[in-house]
Amino acid sequence: MVDNNYMTNIENIYAIGDLINRGKMFAHYAGFQGKEVINRIYGDGGCIDVRVPYGIFSFPQIAGWGLQEKDLIQNNKKYRVEKIPFFSSSIGKIMDERAGFIKIIYDENKKIAGIHIVGEEAIEMINILSSFSVHPSFGELIDELRNKI
Ligand SMILES: Cc1cc2nc3c(=O)[nH]c(=O)nc-3n(C[C@H](O)[C@H](O)[C@H](O)COP(=O)(O)OP(=O)(O)OC[C@H]3O[C@@H](n4cnc5c(N)ncnc54)[C@H](O)[C@@H]3O)c2cc1C
Repeated sequence: MVDNNYMTNIENIYAIGDLINRGKMFAHYAGFQGKEVINRIYGDGGCIDVRVPYGIFSFPQIAGWGLQEKDLIQNNKKYRVEKIPFFSSSIGKIMDERAGFIKIIYDENKKIAGIHIVGEEAIEMINILSSFSVHPSFGELIDELRNKI
């Protein structure tokens, strides 16, 4: 529907957001794409390796970006996983955080395919590792300040 610069098949008409994102329909993604369109119109190439975060406001929180193990299994791709429990950190022990963990999925060339976090502050943590912050979250304040510079 749109090319890599978000242009539709009608020259100089651009489209962003839910309209073009089956499967990743987030307010923060639509906002990011709006800025990307402006960057591209004004000549800045924009961001190529976009890490689109998701956040689930459950208890415990769930957040991440990229592929999941099931995606790679379905596509017969080789992958490796590193997983670390929150409880292995000092703060995890202080907070008695026993459910939480961070999982990194990567390929044979050590390229990260996905990061997934379960536990306290998972959403604010994934914001740090993503191209932009989940909506709604405090990380959006940092994005807002960064945009002012
Ligand atoms: C109940 C609910 C909860 C959600 N919660 C979250 C959340 O917590 N976090 C999150 O990231 N995302 C959430 N989303 C998804 C998020 O709202 C969308 O991904 C986001 O709003 C997409 O932005 P958009 O600009 O593409 O579309 P929209 O925000 O839908 O904007 C499109 C605009 O175009 C207008 N419009 C439509 N047709 C025409 C027309 N013919 N002429 C002129 N104007 C037109 C509409 O009125 C609308 O104002 C939620 C969605 C729903 C429904």
